[in-house]
Amino acid sequence: MNAAASEETTLARQLALVIDLNVCVGCHACVTSCKEWNTGGAAGPLTDEHAYGAAPTGTFFNRVQTYEAGTYPDTQTINFPKSCLHCQEPPCVPVCPTGASYKRAEDGIVLVDYDKCIGCGYCAWACPYGARELDQERQVMTKCTLCVDRVYDALLPPQDRQPACVKACPTGARMFGDVNDPESVVSQAIRERGGYELMPEWETRPANRYLPRKVVEVVRDEPTAGATAAAVSVSNPAFAQPRSDSLAARALAAFRKIAP
Ligand code: SF4
Ligand code: SF4
Ligand code: SF4
Repeated sequence: MNAAASEETTLARQLALVIDLNVCVGCHACVTSCKEWNTGGAAGPLTDEHAYGAAPTGTFFNRVQTYEAGTYPDTQTINFPKSCLHCQEPPCVPVCPTGASYKRAEDGIVLVDYDKCIGCGYCAWACPYGARELDQERQVMTKCTLCVDRVYDALLPPQDRQPACVKACPTGARMFGDVNDPESVVSQAIRERGGYELMPEWETRPANRYLPRKVVEVVRDEPTAGATAAAVSVSNPAFAQPRSDSLAARALAAFRKIAP
C-alpha cells in the first residue's frame, strides 16, 4: 500500500501530463486509446453497457472539448483535452469518507482504491474539473490513473512505458514526465513555453499543465475581384469577451497568450 502524501508538501516527484494546445488537432486519438487501454476486453472492468440502448453507460477518463473562438468568418477552433490533473492539493482526497481516494507520495498520482470505494460521489462533487466518472456497473468512482499500470510495467519496452494517450497522439501534443524535476523535458517545456495551471484560483495546484496557443495570423481569400489575401489577427476584438463558462474562458485566455 502506498503512503498518503501530505497535502502541504511539494513532492520530490510528481508525474503529470503537459498538453500543447498549439498542436492538438482534436482527433480524439488520445480519447479512444485511453478508452481502449482502460476498458478493452469484454470481461474486464469499465465495460460499456447498453451501448445502443436508451440509457448507455460507460466511462471516459479523457475527453477533448472543442470551442470556437471569434466571430465568423474570423474564427479559430480550440481543442482542449481534459483528464484528471493529479492536483498537488487534491480536494477529492480529504472528502472521501473511506480513504479510497488518495494521492501517492512516491509519484503524486491520484488514484482510487476500488476495494474501498462505496460510490458515494463526494469526490466527484469536490473535483472542480469534472474529472471523475462513476462506473455504473461496479458503482465505484473512476478517473485517469496516469496509466500507472503502463508506466511501471517492466515487461514493456522502455519506450512503451508511457500513458496510452501519449503514445497514441499523432501530433505529439501530449508529454509525460516529472514536473518537479527541473531537468525533465516536461519542466523545460513548461518553463520555456509558459505552461500554466488550469484554474489556479481554486488552489488545487494541478500537476498537469497546458502550453498556451500562440497568436497566429489567419489568412483568408477575399471574394472580391482583384483582391489578394487579407491577414486577420486573432487578437482582434472578437476575442476580447470570452464565453462565460469557466473552462471555455480559460481556454480562450490561453489562446490569447503569446508563446515564445
Ligand atoms: Fe482530484 Fe479532480 Fe484534481 Fe483529479 S482533477 S486530483 S479528481 S480534484
Ligand atoms: Fe471515496 Fe468512492 Fe465516495 Fe469518491 S465515491 S468519495 S472515492 S468512497
Ligand atoms: Fe487515459 Fe492513461 Fe491518458 Fe490518463 S494517462 S488520460 S488513463 S490514457
